[in-house]
Amino acid sequence: MANPPGPPTDVASVVAQVTRPSRVVVTAGMPYANGPLHLGHLAGAHLPADIYARYMALVVGRQNVLFVCGTDEHGSTTELAAIKAGVSPRQILDEVHDKQALTLSRYAIGLDVYSGTSRPECYPIHERLSQELLTKLHGNGMLEKRSSLQWFDPKAQKFLSDRLVRGTCPNCGDDNAYSDECDACGKQYEPSTLKNPRSAISDAVPEMRETKHWFLDMSRVQEQLAQWIGEKQKKKTWRPATIAATLELVHPALRFDNVHEPAYKELKPTLPKHKSRYAPGKKVVLVFEKKLELEAAQKALPFATEIADEWAHRSITRDIAWGIPVPAIDDDLKGKTLYVWPDSLIAPIAFSKVARADGEDFWRDPNARIMQFLGQDNVFFYVLMQGAMWLGSQQDIHRLPVAGELQLTDVTSACHLLVNGEKMSKSKGNFFTGDQLLDEMGYDADQIRYYLATLDLSDKPSDFNVEQLAERNRILGGIVNAALERPISAAHSKFDGKVPDGQLMPDVVADTVRMVQRYTKAMERSAHPSLLNDLENYARIINKKFTQHKPHDDRFPLEGRRDALFTGFYVLKNLMIMLQPFVPQTMERVREALNLPASVFSLDELGRPIPAGHVVGAQGRYFPSTEGAADVE
Ligand SMILES: [Zn+2]
Repeated sequence: MANPPGPPTDVASVVAQVTRPSRVVVTAGMPYANGPLHLGHLAGAHLPADIYARYMALVVGRQNVLFVCGTDEHGSTTELAAIKAGVSPRQILDEVHDKQALTLSRYAIGLDVYSGTSRPECYPIHERLSQELLTKLHGNGMLEKRSSLQWFDPKAQKFLSDRLVRGTCPNCGDDNAYSDECDACGKQYEPSTLKNPRSAISDAVPEMRETKHWFLDMSRVQEQLAQWIGEKQKKKTWRPATIAATLELVHPALRFDNVHEPAYKELKPTLPKHKSRYAPGKKVVLVFEKKLELEAAQKALPFATEIADEWAHRSITRDIAWGIPVPAIDDDLKGKTLYVWPDSLIAPIAFSKVARADGEDFWRDPNARIMQFLGQDNVFFYVLMQGAMWLGSQQDIHRLPVAGELQLTDVTSACHLLVNGEKMSKSKGNFFTGDQLLDEMGYDADQIRYYLATLDLSDKPSDFNVEQLAERNRILGGIVNAALERPISAAHSKFDGKVPDGQLMPDVVADTVRMVQRYTKAMERSAHPSLLNDLENYARIINKKFTQHKPHDDRFPLEGRRDALFTGFYVLKNLMIMLQPFVPQTMERVREALNLPASVFSLDELGRPIPAGHVVGAQGRYFPSTEGAADVE
């Protein structure tokens, strides 16, 4: 090409630069079936996922976006709760699920489906997908069988998970310690050192018995994982914290006692390129790019070394009843179920199929984008365990997936949400469920959604602060609301309820080009906080032009009034489209007041003025005036 393209000068060319995947799947971290949704769920997973799903609907059309989630229902916590309450797990689960689903809909989280891993509409699909995947992993040698000792209840005739055994803490003597961890002193220990063990499901004294489990061997696809994550790092697609938490693990590493350090240092220049660091237990760790380089170094070093890949071997089966039975391909694994982590990684594919018949195809389409929203703590599972499960189920595990195979997903991770400066806890009185904020504080969902989106959880915890919530709503109820009301109001009072015949003001067009550029980049990366400041400033353009040219005041020159109002409607329409993912219910009311069709919510509509002569509708109510909100404690 003769000339490299310069910066775009019109909105249409900015929009043309946006990548449009063929289809999009969005998932949000699955809540456990043990309680109501709280602020942390909403701020860290469900709201950013909803904003992203709504944005992608603007980009590729709602019919090409699949947004799914559900309750994480299997596992020992549910089993124990059901045993204690003397009811079936189903009874407990249905109640929790329905409450969670209601809270999500009250916050306008626009899911295609909110299901659950054991629910009747989902379970048969989920079981089939899980068993097929396990069978493929087994066939590809991705599962190692390991023996271990596990508590066994001789009366109930079943193995007990660590949570189902209580006893005396070997460290502090507390009488209610878990099998492997004590809540009283916070210490973790070997289950075999627990004193006076007792079963939580009978009065029997549990004993240690040998049991066999499958471990996922992630080291077999280590190089593909490293290649994939390395690409994400290069393209900056994922947040730095996600890359940091995963990339360091996937490189081949050797470990040795630090007494060998002098000998190592002498040989260091002759070894393949590597990085070295100290590790706990008086160890030195060497990290290589490739397995072959590690093997060469291991041969060259004249002392004992071991491969440091503990991360890569995780057990994925359990001795509990409430879960998905493993496929009948190995007698040693009879009666075992799939561990809840791999279970919950497969579940969104099942939810997709519950949502629509071709839902599974979305996950196997190389031109699709699959974006998963989750807490930073869960990055290991969503990136490494899931990546290894997908790669390990392929026809050929030594390459990245091809069309028809499960595609590796993208992740957006969020750090913890603090409330009034502290970690949320019921005892501190700063624990908020999603419903509480709506029921007790007098805000509507969009007001809370907007404030939550201004909190930056991308690389550090952020604080939910009641004062700031009120302050942000003063801005919404003030300058933003004025910008939303003024054009419609002036059209009704002075221009027969119509958009006047005016000219777009060139400075506003230039501002819009820059704004749309900012918007599409920030929305791709879910970087909302500073974007919302920019959108507020964009809204101020309407107020500024009204102050300058007074479209609602006959004493000012008609041409300036017409141009200002025509331009005001232009900004209002752009603003409405760009704010829609954040405050969908409010923007729906703006759309009705503007008398525009629902199809206006599209990226392609940005920068297209509402034509002169268009008849607007009745003024609506948008963000409430601030007194009510400001008075709330
Ligand atoms: Zn203790």
